[in-house]
Amino acid sequence: MSIHLPQTLNEALHMLQVVPHAQILAGGTDFMVEVNFNKHGVHDVIALRHVDELKKWSHDTVAGVVTIGAAVPYADMEHGELAQLFPALAEAARTVGSPQIRAAGTLGGNLGTCSPAGDALPVLFALNAVINVASTHATRSIPVADFMRGPKRNDLAQDELIVSVTIKTVAGWQGYAKVGTRNAMVISVASASLVLDHVNNSSRIALGSVGPTIIRCIQAEQWLQGVYDFTSHQALDDSIATEFGQRVSQESRPIDDHRSTALYRRHAVGVLAKRLLQRGSAQ
Ligand SMILES: Cc1cc2nc3c(=O)[nH]c(=O)nc-3n(C[C@H](O)[C@H](O)[C@H](O)COP(=O)(O)OP(=O)(O)OC[C@H]3O[C@@H](n4cnc5c(N)ncnc54)[C@H](O)[C@@H]3O)c2cc1C
Repeated sequence: MSIHLPQTLNEALHMLQVVPHAQILAGGTDFMVEVNFNKHGVHDVIALRHVDELKKWSHDTVAGVVTIGAAVPYADMEHGELAQLFPALAEAARTVGSPQIRAAGTLGGNLGTCSPAGDALPVLFALNAVINVASTHATRSIPVADFMRGPKRNDLAQDELIVSVTIKTVAGWQGYAKVGTRNAMVISVASASLVLDHVNNSSRIALGSVGPTIIRCIQAEQWLQGVYDFTSHQALDDSIATEFGQRVSQESRPIDDHRSTALYRRHAVGVLAKRLLQRGSAQ
């Protein structure tokens, strides 16, 4: 295969336009697995490793908006300022693979693959993230819920690149939890991210690995808003946490597959939701 090494974002977009059927390589932790299994007939690869614009993140403190470049690796989200801004993203990043995978694997790659088991994705849904994509002739900003079209399917056109992800900072607690068949180096069997928004007195919960796409549990969120005041700091009644878990579980749409059963996943995701709410309300 031919490897193209653009040095700038514009060069990368131009190559994507002129090289027919070229495929994007970021950290390669999904892409190379597919190549090794011969799933791709790959001829031309555009590797993003020299495109520094995609490896940066920035915080607009006036607008309260953070923009994370598509090629920012998990290692940069695990600790430090980005982790303080988005603790749920940090928690998700810490669960991805091994340190080697987290050094190479990127947010853009998780979105490019768009697996319902991708650990960053429930967090991006719960944070209402927007995905910024570009081609040589246009740019688009797509809410993450519209970006993910199905299992391993997204809204990108052949000539488009994921440039960055924009997330508004939230005043309130946020977290991520995942269940797998072991404690580390594991693809999730069920996952959930919960954001408690103290300004709007509302919550957002998104589930991974229990449906064809990431699932936002809008009905459970609305129910919780009616029975619990996030700003009051009052102790959470155990019955509320239990019912929240049950309602979240009902909104999941899991299947049986090689990793787990629908029955177990439906149960597990309810337990995760209940525990996240207990953790969040105890802060
Ligand atoms: C051992 C191992 C363990 C893993 N564990 C986990 C885990 O626990 N949790 C998890 O979520 N994932 C896991 N993964 C999968 C993988 O690490 C992640 O999905 C990672 O985010 C992929 O990022 P990448 O930069 O390596 O993407 P790549 O492999 O380079 O690319 C993945 C896909 O996205 C496309 N793409 C990449 N960047 C862009 C862009 N900027 N614009 C458009 N398309 C783009 C590529 O063309 C490709 O189709 C694991 C993988 C391995 C090998």
